[in-house]
Amino acid sequence: MLYTAIGGGFEIGANCHLVQLGGTNVVLDCGLRPHAGGPEALPDLDQLDALTDGRVDALFITHAHRDHAGAIGEFRRRHTTTPVYASEATCELVGALASSWSGPPTAEPGSLLARPYGEWFEIAYGIEGCLTQAGHVVGAASVTLRASDASVMFCADIATAAHRMTGVFQAPDDISPDVMILGAMGGDRALDARRRKEGALVADVAEVVGAGGSAVVVADRFGRAQEIVLALRSSMMSGQTPRFPVRVARDVAGICDVLGRMLPHLADPLRRYVVNSRRDLFWADGSATTPDILPMPEGPAHAWTDAGPACAIVAPSPGAASPLTEYAEAVAHDAHSAIFVPASGDEDDLPAPLRAALDGGWVPSPDGRLSVACRVQTYDVPMHADQPQLCSVVNAVKPSAVVLTHGRPDAIQALRHKLSGARPVYTPMNGDTFDPLAPAPVADADTPAPRIKIDDGDGPLVMKLGADAMAHPDFRRHFQGYERIEARFDGNRLTLRPTVDRDDD
Ligand SMILES: [Zn+2]
Repeated sequence: MLYTAIGGGFEIGANCHLVQLGGTNVVLDCGLRPHAGGPEALPDLDQLDALTDGRVDALFITHAHRDHAGAIGEFRRRHTTTPVYASEATCELVGALASSWSGPPTAEPGSLLARPYGEWFEIAYGIEGCLTQAGHVVGAASVTLRASDASVMFCADIATAAHRMTGVFQAPDDISPDVMILGAMGGDRALDARRRKEGALVADVAEVVGAGGSAVVVADRFGRAQEIVLALRSSMMSGQTPRFPVRVARDVAGICDVLGRMLPHLADPLRRYVVNSRRDLFWADGSATTPDILPMPEGPAHAWTDAGPACAIVAPSPGAASPLTEYAEAVAHDAHSAIFVPASGDEDDLPAPLRAALDGGWVPSPDGRLSVACRVQTYDVPMHADQPQLCSVVNAVKPSAVVLTHGRPDAIQALRHKLSGARPVYTPMNGDTFDPLAPAPVADADTPAPRIKIDDGDGPLVMKLGADAMAHPDFRRHFQGYERIEARFDGNRLTLRPTVDRDDD
């Protein structure tokens, strides 16, 4: 088996992984980099063509997020006859979401081939594939491939805690894959109970509205936004939170409508609730027995607070003309109001200019800068498994080797540290090709030590590493992917600590 990170190696986004197994070439995900719009958003599809002589037997899409599915159109342009497989729900959602994925101009995904969870099917002679539920968002799947000589499981974004919309991650029950390719998004986090964090956001929003202000909650248009709408609704229905109007930005509401028509693909308790109550999944008109939750009305974007304090659910989009900033205009001047933004580090993080503006106390507006007098607060409603959960998934699946991808360097390295005691763990850069099942190389006593040269001119001391040192497994294991390393003397020991700047995406 050969693995290559075409994209998504030691980075968030542009997920695209080539597995060459049983004489076939299978690609897992084909996504875009967050907040990049041009060709630089794409995975290296030229390299994919070079490694496969242009013959790809199948593309699998794990779920309908831009960083996993946004480059299907460009892939299709190059591989016109390759089947593209996904779960039934993901096939529908890709069609609904693709128009919101800004990217290179060729990105038209076309139709995908739907496959149910839990059923093996032949991809090409000698290799079968199977999708299993991944949690995370509606339709998300893990992909397992098996050939006569080896098997591999691809877990891109997974969740093991119950979300309102989806079931949880399930391992295939009839196979123990040899290799696991695992997304490391939550790899350096240990999260509080998810429901508690969700409850904290609902309580904070209720407090703002109760004090006469309005709240703008910024959330990814597919996934987190719907979880938050349902959390607000459920809290108001149960009487835990007083009722107040919730208005959902029109692009987010459009995805709510698509999901509302997909009952068979939703988590069991939610589906049962909708069927038994005969109520709409999201919308309610504020009559005697229901909360007031509706799509944002047509008209000026600042009008949503005209009838009094309310909560707006808004998705970020690239550029200063984001609808978020229009909705925020209604509250920015008001000290009683608040803007809730997601914790940084997820793939749906705010565009960097917008986060910088909020940090600087203003939002971009058509008239220039609008200074922000309201509270700006960070919240966290996790959509990914955290470090203990990822470790328990690996321990349950028991692969012989793990390949960590799709995450911040900190998250990948922290997870590698936890997992590498029991099995080889690889943390590839984009372009790396290797066999995850190859036996470890035996140290060769004749190999010269890596070359290191120290220049001591007038300026700071400069240590130059030769290519052999950079390629050394120990160097790669500890320093690969980091841009900055802090050095400190502890007595006669020089301690090196790789660091990542939290804010540069
Ligand atoms: Zn995702």
